[in-house]
Amino acid sequence: MDVREIVNNLKSPSKSDIELITKAYDFAQKVHGECKRLSGEPYFVHLFETAKTLSVLKLDAPTIAAGLLHDVLEDSQISEKDFKREFGEEVYFLVKSVTKLKKIKFKGVKRHTESLRKFFMAMAKDIRVILIKIADRMHNMETLNHLPEEKQKRIAMNTLEIYAPIANRLGMGFFKGKLEDLAFPYVEPEEYKKLKKIAREKLKEGEKYLSITKRELEDELEKENIHPLSINKRIKRLWSLYKKLQKKEMNIDKIYDLAALRIIVNSVGDCYKVLGIIHKLWKPLPGKIRDYIALPKLNGYQSLHTTVFTNKGKIVEIQIRTKQMHEEAEYGIAAHWTYEELEKPKKGWAAHKKFSWVQQLLDWQKEISNPEDFLENLKIDFFQDRVFTLTPKGDVIDLPEGATPIDFAYAIHSDIGKSASGAKVNNKLVSFDSALKNGDIVEILTQKNKKPKAEWIKHAKTALARKYLRLSSKKHELISAKYSAKGIPRFNMLIKAKDRVGLLKDITAIFSEFRVNIENTSTKKEDGFRIVQIIFKPRGIRQIEKIKTKIGGIKKVKEISVNETKNI
Ligand code: MN
Repeated sequence: MDVREIVNNLKSPSKSDIELITKAYDFAQKVHGECKRLSGEPYFVHLFETAKTLSVLKLDAPTIAAGLLHDVLEDSQISEKDFKREFGEEVYFLVKSVTKLKKIKFKGVKRHTESLRKFFMAMAKDIRVILIKIADRMHNMETLNHLPEEKQKRIAMNTLEIYAPIANRLGMGFFKGKLEDLAFPYVEPEEYKKLKKIAREKLKEGEKYLSITKRELEDELEKENIHPLSINKRIKRLWSLYKKLQKKEMNIDKIYDLAALRIIVNSVGDCYKVLGIIHKLWKPLPGKIRDYIALPKLNGYQSLHTTVFTNKGKIVEIQIRTKQMHEEAEYGIAAHWTYEELEKPKKGWAAHKKFSWVQQLLDWQKEISNPEDFLENLKIDFFQDRVFTLTPKGDVIDLPEGATPIDFAYAIHSDIGKSASGAKVNNKLVSFDSALKNGDIVEILTQKNKKPKAEWIKHAKTALARKYLRLSSKKHELISAKYSAKGIPRFNMLIKAKDRVGLLKDITAIFSEFRVNIENTSTKKEDGFRIVQIIFKPRGIRQIEKIKTKIGGIKKVKEISVNETKNI
């Protein structure tokens, strides 16, 4: 263990970077010097490994220093004031935030929710806090076998429920995969053993034809003068294999991506060229071609995926991506650091466009007071797979899997949601409960004065749509309650229309259709329009909306407003 093992991972550390890290290293060693972990290793090893992971991710010096010092505030006598003076505000803030995340008081579902809440709060302030926690958890998981069994299980569960999904959400595929596989044997020991054995046998079998496929592909690419940076065999991670098997009746023969080829090329253009060459060589499995370059996953993941029948009659998945896409797929947000696409934002990471969902999430959770609701929404909006749909103009609207035109309408604008009267998907009329699919072009038909239907809430998957629908049904109930208490008053309807023969007759016909007596009618001209005023007393409060909708459908009618009359 030498501080140079950390510093050498950095790209071009400045003198003050090295000084800060070295100072933190020395201080942590001094503070934790005598302590040992249950494994018998000095506690300092844990801090060193955490910081090393952060340096592999090429994070900045304050983050790495905070990794080394992440337990100092609790384990030493140093005052917060002295700590700030020694290491500066930034390192202090990071360490303090990491320490705060540990203190979660609740139990059960509440505990789970509460810890997620805290994570998001911290994340919105400064995503580096979460990266330190992930690095910290990574080493804890690697050394979990020294803990008592009950604790092992709890920590492993918590890793699966919180750390892995967050790593995934930040696009850190490598961390997500590794955390899950480290947790698997503690959470499902029997299944783990079984699966490990099956996967090993399957892989041995697959290894041979994958090598042949690789060679054939290399030859073909050579002929076409394309020189990939690498072609690797990639083995599916055990936990994600387990998850997939559960969906496929545990039948491993239905898993086509147990082993895949991953091709890294120089440019986006090459990605598509390689895809073309592959499809010329082998027939693709219908419905299995995924273009995550044109439509990246919500966590930023980009790649082309295809599954083909090779000459040996075997089915092989192939992934194609550039080097930058690859690094982003493995390290996610941390890779952006390396590419220096992200400046250090003053307003916190959530302000960055790429991570606007963090802010969104915070906004929602502020509005949701019930922790179970929060968790439910989170599961749906945050962790679920997304579908990418398009507006007729080609704007991408991403929604959770299973989302319907109602979610789409509210995602565009609450006014569109409110006045939605129908939906077209790929130019065909569909019902509001139909699930949208990737690439669907969705058009929402609207009608003025339309009201959302109460049953829509059953078809809404997003928290956003549900929030608006709940609001509008509440408003409705309030109005009904108010009127049933004091009897139905008179109403005043104003209809603005392009003048035409028979306009008034068409309007009054609708009132008689609803068997509603009109008490007074008057009309006047205004700005070239005819304004019709109708004073009436409906038989029930819900009638008003129905009448309004019907009148809205009359030829030449432009606007309708209804008010309770005051003094008539
Ligand atoms: Mn720790």
